[in-house]
Amino acid sequence: MINIARQMGRRWRCAIAGVALQTTDLLLARACCGCSQAFAPGQAPEGWCSPCLRAITCERPRCQRCGLPSHHTPCPTCQATPPPFEHTVVLGAYQPPLDRVIRAFKFGRQPALGRALAAALAPSVTQALAQRPPTRLPPIVVAIPLANERLAERGYNQSLLIARALAARCGLGLSAGALRRTRAGQPQSSLSRSARQPNIAHAFVAAHPLNQPVLLIDDVMTTGATLVAASRALLEAGAPSVTCAVIARTPAPDLTPLPDVSRRPGSP
Ligand SMILES: [Zn+2]
Ligand SMILES: [Zn+2]
Repeated sequence: MINIARQMGRRWRCAIAGVALQTTDLLLARACCGCSQAFAPGQAPEGWCSPCLRAITCERPRCQRCGLPSHHTPCPTCQATPPPFEHTVVLGAYQPPLDRVIRAFKFGRQPALGRALAAALAPSVTQALAQRPPTRLPPIVVAIPLANERLAERGYNQSLLIARALAARCGLGLSAGALRRTRAGQPQSSLSRSARQPNIAHAFVAAHPLNQPVLLIDDVMTTGATLVAASRALLEAGAPSVTCAVIARTPAPDLTPLPDVSRRPGSP
């Protein structure tokens, strides 16, 4: 009985997510998802006005290995303790307006925002892949899987939506079921930095052997513990290398936040 109720609940949530997808598709075609400014008729940007796109991709020098702001690649931390992934592609820092869009995407039942976020991330991914030796196989795109409970609550895996849209844009294959969660654990966002690594370690396993490089997608990278654990599982399954691509990297605490371009002059 409880299972039937859960299945019904999940169906409703998926149906709501589907309606939200269509509704947000319409809204994205009309207004910027960063500042809600309406697009001019005939204009067809992919969800972003120019100032918002500049704001979310505003780049500081970053360590290409871990994605944190640094003038060195690898940064001193990566030199001391190299992560299992070889590269991290970052769209921008987790700050306005990007943090607000990601929260709407994850918690506001606006799954279509994943397409706009993937569209903004795609040029950086294409650029990173172009720097790889031409003899390398193209990567397969894999998303960080959600725990079943959270997938049932949300109705969609936000990282998989980004991965699917990104794979289509970059002409790459997608392996939607390559990674599985072995256990749910606590949501990483609810834990302190020091508690995240033990919570997520050994939480993933590859569903099948892998023989090509992986482009691993997550929405937000904070300590990197999730991507480290997932990368280890992929490498253990035979993937020759892992490159991470994330929408947002939490900024280092000493960085000055960028101005919130979503607040236009005269707006409350
Ligand atoms: Zn905008
Ligand atoms: Zn680094």
